[in-house]
Amino acid sequence: MAVIIDESCITCDACAQQCPVNAILDDALNPTGNKRYYVQPEKCIECVGVFDDPQCAAICPSIGCITWDMPFTQEFEEHFTQAGVYALAKAKEGKTLRDQKFRADIPLSRRGIKEKVQQEPSEGEIG
Ligand code: SF4
Ligand code: SF4
Repeated sequence: MAVIIDESCITCDACAQQCPVNAILDDALNPTGNKRYYVQPEKCIECVGVFDDPQCAAICPSIGCITWDMPFTQEFEEHFTQAGVYALAKAKEGKTLRDQKFRADIPLSRRGIKEKVQQEPSEGEIG
């Protein structure tokens, strides 16, 4: 991955419409059973090479709902096999993870700690 959607998702569908690689599943298809939208980490490319920043977070009306996750690479395989948080596509089961693109300018220190992808505008930016 990449990015992850938390429980503050209001299931508005905006993110799924924006994703360039159709990595986002709606709440009815969320393979973890959680009643919120779900980013498939094995598909998300953090919008690298397509947009300047993650479009799902840019459009999401629930600011803070989408946070930086670990890069989807073999190094973090253990992280992405946590049941209840992720459910890798059936086709990937039993296979080594195939590294996915991620934003190298987002350091590991900002990932996996629920840091928002979309920041609230500071007062100086409003208006
Ligand atoms: S960061 Fe980009 S590729 Fe990843 S889920 Fe969001 S819109 Fe899709
Ligand atoms: S845009 Fe945000 S609130 Fe709407 S479905 Fe996606 S994650 Fe949930």
